[in-house]
Amino acid sequence: MSAPSTNALPYLPFTRPTIDDATIQGVTEVLRSGWITSGPNVKAFEAKLSEYCGGRPVRAFNSGTCTMEIALRIAGIGAGHEVITTPLSWVATSNVVLDVGAKPVFVDIDPVTRNLDLARVEAAITPATRAIIPVDLAGLPVDRDRLYALAKKHNLRVIEDAAQSFGSTWAGRRIGSCGDFVSFSFHANKNITTIEGGALVLNNEAEAKLAEQYRLQGVVRSGYDGMEVELVGGKFNLTDVAARVGLGQLPHLDEFTAQRRALARAYFELLDTPALRVSGLQLPVADFTQSNWHMFQVVLPEAKLQLKRADVMAQLHAAGIGSGVHYPAIHLFALYRRLGWKPGDFPHAEYAGRNILTLPLFPAMTRADVARVATALESIISANRVA
Ligand SMILES: *Cc1c(COP(=O)(O)O)cnc(C)c1O
Repeated sequence: MSAPSTNALPYLPFTRPTIDDATIQGVTEVLRSGWITSGPNVKAFEAKLSEYCGGRPVRAFNSGTCTMEIALRIAGIGAGHEVITTPLSWVATSNVVLDVGAKPVFVDIDPVTRNLDLARVEAAITPATRAIIPVDLAGLPVDRDRLYALAKKHNLRVIEDAAQSFGSTWAGRRIGSCGDFVSFSFHANKNITTIEGGALVLNNEAEAKLAEQYRLQGVVRSGYDGMEVELVGGKFNLTDVAARVGLGQLPHLDEFTAQRRALARAYFELLDTPALRVSGLQLPVADFTQSNWHMFQVVLPEAKLQLKRADVMAQLHAAGIGSGVHYPAIHLFALYRRLGWKPGDFPHAEYAGRNILTLPLFPAMTRADVARVATALESIISANRVA
């Protein structure tokens, strides 16, 4: 879809990466260097990520999806095992559980944080449970103290799906610097990007070595000509071109996060109008210390609005404003329904899945852009309220 030609203001997408000229120049140099796939830039990127994560081992991959699948394999999770996770996430989070032959066990969300409701996790644990995959939706961190207390009590592994929370903290510590496995994504829409890519934070060198094997056909090299293969790996390595993009992004992380926080604050101010206060529009948790504000998501007041979410999105689009849906409830996708889930299983995730709406938020935006979105949303909601 293209922007309406009558609109004087440029189209405002819901997100947009910020890549500086030095990074573009750096990528040119990598392309000219003769070494464009995994090499020195991947090593340098991993070293910087490890430094960021307090010295823990980190390996880079070509997606944030494969990092989670590989973490499950390293943990020995497969057929006959259950993994507890949230139904409100990108479908990758539970697809990886199916991929390794295990069974996802969904637990409903807390409608306020929109993250896995840890108070409901214990009731879902069975003798087959091996792991929990929590998701920090929109960058708001899941309570790590409570999460790891549960994991410890029931002897479970944790694979933190921190795809959206690079730059977030919990109790003053960076996400990635503590805990069990931590998976990051550097997809183009994430807070820092390698275009496509991801990283896995591991607990020790033995796990890191396994991660390297799973990353590239199970191959272990030694000396000039030594090669051994002991397990079935895949093709998950990051290119040096992509790693160079990541190296150019990392120094901007704090500035990106600060800018996102300032824009989120502006949303809270500008959405706090008399009309919206009574409209039933749900705002996210106002966390300005821990969240990296990967997204600013509202939940539309379904019962008080004559419009469906798609109509709201169409009207925003007509006003030159992009928006997104992150995400429909996973258990209601056809694949998951065939596996036995049905409407009514997780009411909070289903309500959010139908009504959640991602508004524009990215570092290059201005307060004036936020004002434009707030004004448009207010007028759409005010004009279409149930009498
Ligand atoms: C982006 C994302 C992923 C997957 O990352 P890719 O790099 O696209 O494979 C997984 N989980 C969540 C919550 C995400 O937002």
